[in-house]
Amino acid sequence: MRKRLGVVVPYRDREQHLAEFLATVPSFLSESPRCEHVTARILIVEQVPGKPFNRGALCNVGARILGDSVDYICLHDVDTLPIDADYSWPEQPSMIVVHGLKFGAELARKLFGTVVLIQQAQFIAANGFSNEYWDWGFEDVDLRERLLRCGFRPGHREGTFRSLPHPDLGSNPDGTP
Ligand code: UDP
Ligand code: MN
Repeated sequence: MRKRLGVVVPYRDREQHLAEFLATVPSFLSESPRCEHVTARILIVEQVPGKPFNRGALCNVGARILGDSVDYICLHDVDTLPIDADYSWPEQPSMIVVHGLKFGAELARKLFGTVVLIQQAQFIAANGFSNEYWDWGFEDVDLRERLLRCGFRPGHREGTFRSLPHPDLGSNPDGTP
């Protein structure tokens, strides 16, 4: 059955990354055999200057704008681009990148961020992200906790992505905060 995907990209001040994202992700989705039955839209949600970045709030705005025009959403960092990835309909919330992050697969399997798929109804049931995480980190940990408390089972798909380089705002090279 055809499913409607909305890709939400929280964004500010990473022009080069956005150019690469837009040169990669739309064609990847339209050419992906796993997404043969998926109609995808991409929504870049840009934060105005003046306050610290708030990734969770931007994703909430994107999900709200898409509303019931989509069946599931992909919360997608702008700097993480697919090489081998499965963006198809998720029965459970799924982080679809395990390989190719700046840290190893073992840590990736413990996280729930970077590029994740969630049914719109599950995201709404969990009340989305908290809006209270300003600057780097932990909004994704909080979302995973919210999903677990709703009885969902956030998991992983073994995707391979490439990470575009940028100065680290909050994590060490091994991925620890
Ligand atoms: N982001 C952005 N501008 C910023 C900070 C973050 O656009 O100033 C977005 C962007 O999509 C980025 C994501 O938020 O990929 C996660 O932030 P970041 O890459 O700094 O986190 P990390 O690489 O440490 O996970
Ligand atoms: Mn990054």
